[in-house]
Amino acid sequence: MSQKIKIRLYFNKNLSDIEEFSPEEAQVHYLNNVLRIEDNTIIAGFDGQSGEYAFMVKKNGKKKLTLLRQEKLREFYSSPDLWLLFAPVKKDKTDFIIEKACELGVRKIIPTITEHTISDKVRLERYQAQAIEACEQCRRLDIPTIDTPVELRKLLANWPSERKLYYMDETGEGQNILTAFNPKFQKAAILVGPEGGFAEQELHMLAQQEFCQGVSMGKRILRAETAVAAALSCWQALCGDWLNKGE
Ligand code: SAM
Repeated sequence: MSQKIKIRLYFNKNLSDIEEFSPEEAQVHYLNNVLRIEDNTIIAGFDGQSGEYAFMVKKNGKKKLTLLRQEKLREFYSSPDLWLLFAPVKKDKTDFIIEKACELGVRKIIPTITEHTISDKVRLERYQAQAIEACEQCRRLDIPTIDTPVELRKLLANWPSERKLYYMDETGEGQNILTAFNPKFQKAAILVGPEGGFAEQELHMLAQQEFCQGVSMGKRILRAETAVAAALSCWQALCGDWLNKGE
């Protein structure tokens, strides 16, 4: 049933005990004027906390609309406990990173400022809007949190030591990905460096931490956004939820 419903929206409220409600103005505009939705259409709604539900659209003039809750479509479940730490790059490439991190089931995203990070303009609101759109599209039930940017040094100083931190090391010094990604560590994070790569002292600092593991993805140097998608895919295949079937 859930897959047959074409329109799927995130609502920032607990939907578990709501019989009917009027969505925010921007969502009403989207449904009415962009999608030109018809009265009685069934859409899917999820809240990132209790699951996914069917809603019937009741139009009320051109500017108003109410959603009537129908059956529950899916129980809530979270994405694996995987974090992505990435050094912000140019605008469209960061957009790509946020979108792919959502599709690839990351639970938290932390923009990380390293020595060679060239773009320090971090547009949190934009990232959050993109994350919601990507989650709506890929049928996720949770929305990843996106932290405010933090410097790598500070991040390491406050790191929760039970969480494995895999840093993707382009120098070839890291472990082979197959042996490095260990399913024993279900709390994990993946760190990808900036376009200019990690500074030597950063690699040294990372190598010193017990919770860190350097990882190599072979001889070819990948662009940061490719490295993000490749590393997250490998982790999901070896340690995450790709072993579970879909609905
Ligand atoms: N400027 C660097 C150079 O030419 O050596 C390349 C940096 S690369 C564009 C950006 C990030 O992607 C790296 O810091 C690393 O985290 C990741 N990356 C790229 N290729 C990789 C590889 N073969 N193995 C591991 N990580 C890689």
